[in-house]
Amino acid sequence: MKTFYITTPIYYPSANLHIGHAYCTTIADAIARYKRLDGFDVFFLTGSDEHGQKIQRSAQAQGKSPLEYVDPIVESFKDLWTKFHISNDDFIRTSEPRHEKVVQEIFRRIQANGDIYKGEYTGLYCTPCESYWTELQLDENGCCPDCHRPVEKVSEEAYFFRLSKYADKLLQHIEEHPEFIVPTSRRNEMINFIRRGLEDLCISRTSFDWGIPVPDDPRHVIYVWFDAVINYITPLIHNEDMKRFWPADIHLVGKEIVRFHTIIWPAMLMAAGLPLPKQIYGHGWLVTDTGKMSKSVGNVVDPVLLVEEFGADAIRYFLLREITLGLDGNFSRDALIARINADLANDLGNLLHRTLNMIGKFQQGTLLPATDGTELDQSFRAQALDTVREYRRLMDDVQLSDAVKVVWKFIGRANKYIDETMPWKLAKDPAQRQQLANVLYNLAESLRIVSVLIEPFMPDTAQKIRAQLNVTSKPKLDDAQTFGLLEANHVVGKPEQLFPRILTDK
Ligand SMILES: [Zn+2]
Repeated sequence: MKTFYITTPIYYPSANLHIGHAYCTTIADAIARYKRLDGFDVFFLTGSDEHGQKIQRSAQAQGKSPLEYVDPIVESFKDLWTKFHISNDDFIRTSEPRHEKVVQEIFRRIQANGDIYKGEYTGLYCTPCESYWTELQLDENGCCPDCHRPVEKVSEEAYFFRLSKYADKLLQHIEEHPEFIVPTSRRNEMINFIRRGLEDLCISRTSFDWGIPVPDDPRHVIYVWFDAVINYITPLIHNEDMKRFWPADIHLVGKEIVRFHTIIWPAMLMAAGLPLPKQIYGHGWLVTDTGKMSKSVGNVVDPVLLVEEFGADAIRYFLLREITLGLDGNFSRDALIARINADLANDLGNLLHRTLNMIGKFQQGTLLPATDGTELDQSFRAQALDTVREYRRLMDDVQLSDAVKVVWKFIGRANKYIDETMPWKLAKDPAQRQQLANVLYNLAESLRIVSVLIEPFMPDTAQKIRAQLNVTSKPKLDDAQTFGLLEANHVVGKPEQLFPRILTDK
């Protein structure tokens, strides 16, 4: 069986969830669901990244142990994924014993290969980002180049990973595998970064203890990034799944952490003698009309409240349709409402409602045997199949936004087909019975096909449409590639509203 392995980053358990977390996970979920539709055996992993000084400090400030501090936050992640219909197959917490064991094994393996050594570290550390920086990398105020907060000077005995040794091998791999880092802009950034030279990476700390101990030297804990990226193999390495799913097909990550995933992680894998992931996909950020979401600006969009107000499928649709994968995208409440009203309530909702309504009214809810029909009918059916072909091409190429658009173009076509064929007129003319049966059959079939195509984007809605069509089989991509699978004499259900229109002041 063909297999597919996709991961999201494991998220840092900060108390503030925002829609950006949901964005990344929704993309991964849509890809995972598409691959399942296409018959792949899919493994989809997400999780939480729980170690490090910042967590330890936050926990201390609340008089809690680190685990007491992160447990409820991790639960809120899991709840959110349930609310968003995220279909992950596993959830890794880096605080779990199964992960600790694997991290120590990988550490030992790299150490045995001579690529981990003990030295003295003096450097600049940004605690919020858990990143070490050199003087040259700091911003114009001498602060962290990522978050612009002050860095701390630290000096301690530490373990180092011989990252410098892998610069040439990494460059060669990136050049020989153009698909390894996507999009190209990120790839070019990484090539330039490596060409400036790589320094060995400090991978242990002694100034706090909330982390995974270095094997045989537990005074040291392993650097949180070294620990975190290993999660991608934690659930696989001790069973058959390693053979089936590794190397990962896609590590989906935010653009700000592409460096860790395309330089440090692959070098670690090379040092451990393991194959590299096939692709690291760096997606853009969600911004709002008032800029990048941040607590201080007060423009953070809470995904829990959003789901409660609009439902997960509408938000999933918006995120997948509005934002071209790889680029930054704008999130606004007005734009979300506009999409819900126009695309979901109007285009999709009306198509379903009108179709089922007419089948109920004109044929007592039963589809009748169809014939080839007119030229218009034939070209409509051909368009349905063209849509499926184009959708597949785009989805296989991870162009999710364009794939959504292609489906909605066809939904628009189907609505127009109703206006052109005017079934209510055909119904009045006994000589047009066959033609009426053809049109209603074609509409029901196109809705069945649409219900397969939108499953990756809006799983709940896809299921509702199938229930109303009275289709009980599990959606499969193969079933979308044939027009005419609904049987003559199939009885459809009653129409129910999919998306209520949202009234606004405007
Ligand atoms: Zn920082």
